[in-house]
Amino acid sequence: MNSERVAAWTEAELGVEGRVLDVVRAPDGVLSARGADVDPTSADIVQLAADLVATMRVSPGCVGLAANQVGVGVRMFCVDVVEHPKTRTQHGTFVLCNAEVVESSRNERAREGCMSVPDLTGDVKRAARLTVRGELPGTGEKVEFSTDAFEARALQHEIDHTDGLLFLDRVAGAHAIYPRQTYL
Ligand SMILES: [Zn+2]
Repeated sequence: MNSERVAAWTEAELGVEGRVLDVVRAPDGVLSARGADVDPTSADIVQLAADLVATMRVSPGCVGLAANQVGVGVRMFCVDVVEHPKTRTQHGTFVLCNAEVVESSRNERAREGCMSVPDLTGDVKRAARLTVRGELPGTGEKVEFSTDAFEARALQHEIDHTDGLLFLDRVAGAHAIYPRQTYL
């Protein structure tokens, strides 16, 4: 477990300036394909990590962004749920490469949205207790940590993206999909 290492990570470690990229929308095929594993130490991946964080930061309400959402079909994403009211445990801003779920429990249903599906939200059942592992961009360090509540939900949503799945693939049915009513 290196919870503290993940919590201490910031994009400043990457040593490159992030660029704001355009976000791809469904039904673009890059969103429904499983991403390729990445070498977290390669220069391209370090730059992409910085770009993901920069793009998340300029997008209001965005708590996570996967590489395929900016058109790059690889297994990595950023997360930052610090400002969200439903967050309990949180690890600040971080980027994970080649992430996977190690353990999950306590399913809870809650409303979810996605920048790649801007007009809809949906009720999705996700584990409220989660352990994940992955690698940090730049150093390539392997990390494994546990979280809960909204950060656990965000991680499962992002790991789904790396597998080519959208929240729409997880909703209980058409009755659990709603039009988004607020545009910020
Ligand atoms: Zn999403």
